[in-house]
Formats: sequence, structure tokens, C-alpha cells
Amino acid sequence: MNSAAIKSKAAELGIQVRITDARPFLTEAEKIKVQYDRKLFRENGFWYKRKIDNFCTPHSLLSDARSIIGSCLFYLTPDEPDPSLPGQPYGVVARYTRRNYYKELKNRLKELAKFLRKEYGAKCIVYVCGPIAEKPIARRCGIGYYGKHSIIINPVWGSWIVLGEIITDLEIEPDDVLNMSCGECDACIKACPTGAIIEPYIIDRKRCLQDLTNYSGYLPPDIAQKWDNRIYGCSLCQEVCPVNKKVKPGQPMTEIGAIGAYLPLVEILNMNEQTYRKRYGNNQVSARWIHFEAIKRNALIALGNIRDRKTIPIVEKFTKSSNQLLKKTALWALNQF
Ligand code: SF4
Ligand code: SF4
Repeated sequence: MNSAAIKSKAAELGIQVRITDARPFLTEAEKIKVQYDRKLFRENGFWYKRKIDNFCTPHSLLSDARSIIGSCLFYLTPDEPDPSLPGQPYGVVARYTRRNYYKELKNRLKELAKFLRKEYGAKCIVYVCGPIAEKPIARRCGIGYYGKHSIIINPVWGSWIVLGEIITDLEIEPDDVLNMSCGECDACIKACPTGAIIEPYIIDRKRCLQDLTNYSGYLPPDIAQKWDNRIYGCSLCQEVCPVNKKVKPGQPMTEIGAIGAYLPLVEILNMNEQTYRKRYGNNQVSARWIHFEAIKRNALIALGNIRDRKTIPIVEKFTKSSNQLLKKTALWALNQF
């Protein structure tokens, strides 16, 4: 079928969609396996080799899948001032996490799926951050192209987008792949503080601050020193990208899970897990897969880098913690003052 009615309904819902077929992403599966064999993922991390084929095969999720409707939501909003005061330092949150754009996009895609079921009797499954190869889908349906930082770049919104998709049994006319690339640019590779972009398009996830945000383990000094004042995520490789620099911030596309750009570090270190999850509910910083221990570790590393002497007492308190990860991290942080 022609995609015009679907695109028009999507536009009504405030999203752009593009279509691809449901063939497996074989080349991408091979690339992920090579990276797995090169040990570029953390042990016990997201990847288990046996999962890769399923991840790259839409039919593993819908056996009679014929098409995939790819979509994205723009999340760049104006910068916010850092509210830190002496004794009350704040940690920075990566741009994509300042509101829950994932939930917003999922809600809009669910509405679109409802329309497809009603109008065409279609089977539809909606994913955002799902167990499916989102970036390869976005590339093949022409939402964007791969940047050398391995993130999808949209020609209008840069890489300031979250991705989502509907897998359906409808056969829909596919869109073209974009014929675009980074060319000679290597700004993101040079800017990455930990050298995690080891080659164009290849990330050593064990060194990427974004990936380490929710890793509940000790971060060695060479990584911790590059952590800066982060509490959640990293987007430095996106900040320096010349394509992104040309994109103008817009009004927030959602109010769901709005937590802002900065979180109070000392307050978080004094919180218990229940309070934290309630306070930042509906945002991914408190999602069920987030380790609260990792968040506290991030806060301690940030304090070690900010070096506000008024925060020494809270760091010292954690040097006596029964939690070995937090104790060891606090000892590192205390050494930085
Ligand atoms: S997210 Fe941060 S650490 Fe990871 S590749 Fe980009 S700049 Fe490097
Ligand atoms: S910084 Fe340059 S190389 Fe990196 S993604 Fe942007 S355009 Fe591509």
C-alpha cells in the first residue's frame, strides 16, 4: 500500500515517519558480532552473542512482519543555567534525558498503531528502546545516517532525536536510504574525553561515559578524571558535531518526566532509593533498570571533579560506607580535593 495516509496521520500526531521492509539486518548483525568478539562491550552487559541475531531480525518479534515504520522525536531545548551554589553543587544530565521523550514518542506511535489497526486491521507492535535494531531501522528507512560517533543523524534535527518504530504485517511502500555521510569530519572522535570512539563508527563501550552511567562497578581513575560533573549520560560527541551545531533548539516536545538539566549531588547522596525513584519518577534516570548504586557512584565522582571543599564531609561519610563500590569511589573523590 501507499504510505501517504499513514504519513498524514503521523503528521497529525506531530511525528515524522518513514518506512522500510522487514528484512533482517544481516550486515549490522555481523558488525555487532565483530565488536562483541573484539570485547568492545562490557562483560555481562547488554549483549549476549546469542541475542544479536534476534535483535537484528524483525520476524523474531512479529512472525508475519512485512514493514517497519520508523520514527523519531526531536529533543533539543535551550540551555539551562547551572544552579550550583557553594556547598550545593549540581550534576549535569545528558540532553536526551532531561524529559522522557521516549515515553512521549511511544504514546504517539501507539496512537498511530491504533489508527492502523482500525483502518486496515493491521497487526502492530510498538517499540521505543525495544529489543530491536533501532539505529539500523532508522538508517534503512531514511530517518537519518550514521555519524562516526555511531549515532543516527537526521538532516533537519541532527542527532538530537530519540528513535522508535512500529513493526507491522502491512505491506507498505518503503522509503529510500539517505545518501549522506560525515565526509572528512572527525570532530567527535577528537572530542571524546575517553577516546571511546576508537575508529569511525566503532565505540569501545567499556570506555564510553554514556554506557558507564548505569554500570554498577568501580570506574578507574583515568575514566573518573574525565567524568567532569556528570550525573547521568554523556553527549559531548554530539555537542561538537557541526551538523548539530546548526540545529536551533525548540520548545520541549513533552512534559513527561521533566527533571531539568541539573540534579543536586549532595541531596542525591543523602537520599534513599525509594525517595530518589519517587522524586524523579517517569524519567529514565529512575527507570527500573537503573542501578541506584551507580547513580550515587556518579555523584561521588562528580564531587571529586568539582572539588567544592564544602562537600568534603559528605564524601568522607561515604569513605566509611559498607558498600564497597561507594567506599572505594569516595576514597578516590576525597583524594581529588
Ligand atoms: S558519549 Fe561521551 S564518552 Fe561516549 S563516545 Fe560520546 S563523547 Fe565519548
Ligand atoms: S562530529 Fe563530524 S564525524 Fe562526528 S558525527 Fe558529526 S559530522 Fe560526523
